[in-house]
Amino acid sequence: SYTVSQVFKHAVLTTPDKEAIFDGKNRLTYGEIDVEADLLASGLVQIGIEKGDRVAVCLPNWNEFMIIFMALSKVGAILIPLNIDFRKNEIIYILENSGAKAVFFTNTLGKVNQFPQLMEAQKSISTLEHLISVRFQHDSINNYDRLIQLGRIHKTLKTPLVENDDICVILYTSGTTGNPKGVMLANENVVSISRTAAYKMDCSPNDVFLIPVPLFHIMGLMFMLRSISCQGRLVLMEKFKAEKALELIQHEKVTIHPGVPTMFILELNHPNFSKYDLSSLRTGEMAAAPCPIEILRRIKNEMKCNILVAYGMTETSASLSMTNFDDEDHLRAETVGRALPGAEVKIVDDTRDVVPPGVVGELACKSSGLMKGYFQMEEETKKATDEQGWFYSGDLATMDEAGYIRIVGRKKELIIRGGYNIYPREVEDVYYQHPSVMEVAIIGLPDTVLGEITCAVIRLRPGMQASEQELKKFADQRLVSYKVPNKFVFMDELPMTSSGKILKRELTRRIKSELR
Ligand code: ATP
Ligand code: MG
Repeated sequence: SYTVSQVFKHAVLTTPDKEAIFDGKNRLTYGEIDVEADLLASGLVQIGIEKGDRVAVCLPNWNEFMIIFMALSKVGAILIPLNIDFRKNEIIYILENSGAKAVFFTNTLGKVNQFPQLMEAQKSISTLEHLISVRFQHDSINNYDRLIQLGRIHKTLKTPLVENDDICVILYTSGTTGNPKGVMLANENVVSISRTAAYKMDCSPNDVFLIPVPLFHIMGLMFMLRSISCQGRLVLMEKFKAEKALELIQHEKVTIHPGVPTMFILELNHPNFSKYDLSSLRTGEMAAAPCPIEILRRIKNEMKCNILVAYGMTETSASLSMTNFDDEDHLRAETVGRALPGAEVKIVDDTRDVVPPGVVGELACKSSGLMKGYFQMEEETKKATDEQGWFYSGDLATMDEAGYIRIVGRKKELIIRGGYNIYPREVEDVYYQHPSVMEVAIIGLPDTVLGEITCAVIRLRPGMQASEQELKKFADQRLVSYKVPNKFVFMDELPMTSSGKILKRELTRRIKSELR
């Protein structure tokens, strides 16, 4: 295996003058990134950053994100990506939990201004020595440009020996089901998965990746590494907007379009969709959340490209399995494919015994991308792993004889209504066939008689109508009656995590408090 820094160096040496990244503002070649990352690395060494130190980065999808990550990899320091929308308590939690020595940030983006928050936070966090501003300056703190200057004056970078099993990033999970956990990923983890995925998708230097997901999330970060490992080109989006994405695909001749279901849904439904030339698209890659077949079908037919479904999680350096969506093969169409080379998957019951093919159980896996553990959460690590090296994902799934995996839902989101199990996804899939429904989330609500009842939260397509009665009937014609939602709530927009997943936890909380 190789380290992140070695894979990057390989790209720099083979294609130094090739454009590597475009963030809507600046374009940089592999060679230019390398030069700047070297300077930044030596600047970081000057202010006392050493191998193993944690350095947080709270930035949108800017070129600097990649430069900083490459600089940290050269030094052997550990990247701690921070969600730009985090509030003060969330930032403090991660900066404290990770023991970060420095944080790169900016003041212009996200839902909150991070600057005053960080100034305040620094007072109470003894490990946090440096605040480093990017694309803005303030007298009292260090900034990115100044570090580059410092690196230029003292070019003293003695690269420490970075080993394959050294941690290169601690990435906090999306927090969809609980408090975010710091996932420790080693160089060999992220490198092996990005190379396997690049190989599996026949990636080449001709590939142009649209990155509409944040780089601080595992998916964005892994696409960056995938592009580096095939010497491709990255087109970053600071914030996802459907029409902007379509425009970029046409203008930058994007070949690979990763995304979460909501992004594709918004693009396909955009009134100007057909005005754009998307013929450069080779494939879409759907990941991070369950995607209804109807949407996959529409991508294939309307975007006229291949669509790949990938499944994975932060703990497995993203991709654990992948498959090309194949509408002809009905049995396989609903799956997320088979475990990638270097990975193994089994489905187990509550006592962690393997269940027969086709039976729902918890998905457990081994993978070359599997994390080294949750940072400073030994209890959580122990709960999720066993002595044989299996990781228990908390996802419910089935597997057929040939190893094809079907994700059924999350253990924590399973609804038990009067003793019957309801997997939200099955009901959601039905509603995605309804012409008026744009997005839907099925959640459980407490009920004194049945224990739980189901509630369908629905976002209608613009200008479309559907009554509660009609929606009920629609499900009733397609599902056994206990699966038909008991309640319907209409919303203009569903709450999302920054990685683009419907935040059911938040939805449930909101609807419960409205009912009170
Ligand atoms: P937390 O662990 O903090 O609750 P999270 O699990 O959402 O947050 P991530 O690591 O970003 O954090 O997401 C991984 C999860 O996303 C998987 O465990 C799975 O539930 C879901 N997921 C990813 N890809 C797919 C897919 N193709 N189909 C269905 N679900 C998917
Ligand atoms: Mg998770």
